[in-house]
Amino acid sequence: MAQTQRLAARQTASLALRRVSSRRGLLRDPRRLASPARTDTLLKVHVALSCLSSAAGLWSYWLGCAWTAADVKRYQDRRIRGLVARAALNPFYSRLWREAGADPLSLRTVDDLPRLPIVSKGQMQEADAELPPPAIDRSRLVRIRTTGSTGNPMEIRRHPAEDKLLSAFRIRAFANYGLSPWDARVHLHFVADPRPARRRARQYPWWMRVGLFERYALSFAEGIGESFDTARQLRPAMIGGHAGAIWRMSNEVPHERLRALGLKFITPSVETVPPLAKKQISHAFGAPAYITYGSTEFNLLAAECPQTGLLHLNELCNYVEVLTGGRPATEGESGQVVATNLHSEIVPFIRFDLGDWATMGPERCPCGAPFRTLQAVEGRMLELFPLPDGGSIHPFQLAYPLLDFQQWLGEYRIIQERLDLIRIPFTVLRRQDAPAGAESLIASTAARAAGRRVRVEAVRVEALPTFEKGKNKLFESRLDS
Ligand SMILES: [Zn+2]
Repeated sequence: MAQTQRLAARQTASLALRRVSSRRGLLRDPRRLASPARTDTLLKVHVALSCLSSAAGLWSYWLGCAWTAADVKRYQDRRIRGLVARAALNPFYSRLWREAGADPLSLRTVDDLPRLPIVSKGQMQEADAELPPPAIDRSRLVRIRTTGSTGNPMEIRRHPAEDKLLSAFRIRAFANYGLSPWDARVHLHFVADPRPARRRARQYPWWMRVGLFERYALSFAEGIGESFDTARQLRPAMIGGHAGAIWRMSNEVPHERLRALGLKFITPSVETVPPLAKKQISHAFGAPAYITYGSTEFNLLAAECPQTGLLHLNELCNYVEVLTGGRPATEGESGQVVATNLHSEIVPFIRFDLGDWATMGPERCPCGAPFRTLQAVEGRMLELFPLPDGGSIHPFQLAYPLLDFQQWLGEYRIIQERLDLIRIPFTVLRRQDAPAGAESLIASTAARAAGRRVRVEAVRVEALPTFEKGKNKLFESRLDS
């Protein structure tokens, strides 16, 4: 069975290559590509060359050479044609497109992308083994684990050059906010970098040890206060990462200590950040907060424009589609986010369903940047708690009123158990400060925010389970499980 599939895939691939070669005169003799070792070498050469050319493009943009919207479009079209032609060699994509009756070689521009089917995370998880080309030495690839919405973690593999290129696009966006190459960045995550949380330790790459592009990933699971202390020692110019953690830091650490960090800016991400939370964070740290939208599969997808507040799409890196009823959303319309990573040669992400929801902004940002925009990312659809009346609520809205209890309230989680039941397990900081009816106080406060039809149960516990990536969240909906 697997043999026939492989054969079919190879035939499709060879046919695809022949068509590419005859049409574009790129490859003289496609039969020479049939050997996996050759495909491997060619792919590696290709990744290296494409990363080099893309890096040159990024660099010229960085240096301020003006790209017009037409330049950006031309660049995207060129990348997408190459990416799709090469992905037609991949057993997973060739099968997917064949089954959908799509002809990848008829694709000329990004506007033709809707001819290809949308790919779900589940499909890619199932096809995991056949995603990187068989001849590629997998031990040399960068492996990044990501949480699956289903609880199944997915492993993303990239060529180290691809990985650096994607990070470069993010740094480009941060440079727009004032980050210099010698500024250190701190990111707050569920899981810390296994390397020591000490500046310029030997385990870090050479550029970090000489003080360039320093980036430290800290876990906030040990406690918000502890992660603040560690962050302070690293003397960062910016703090990014989990919005929930940054928001709690802005509420639980005295503002004068936060301001003493002298941050240039903050980028709360991962979770959706409502405007009020953004304002609170910015006020607490005494620095501007910019929303960034990213994912493990794509790195940076969009970053807030400091002038207009719209989100510039990271167009030289990813092509983002917002779809409503199967068609592209126009300005002001919301829909499902589907993205294509223009620099994913090893494991292609083509029309990947991110499971997010966003509102399309104007075709061009009024600031003059040549990029399409998003008005807002309404969020990871999974994060919103649906309500019995058909509406939904962001868990931040339940957490706001609990700020009144920060004198004694320790760690807590907000968990939606059922449509009409939310549970809040919490710990108490100082036993003597907690009021006698702490449980009912928390329950009734959160219940007021949740509305009449939702019951809230608060449970005081001695300790909360430590964070484990993909399993525990500050806010969690258990409706699907
Ligand atoms: Zn702008």
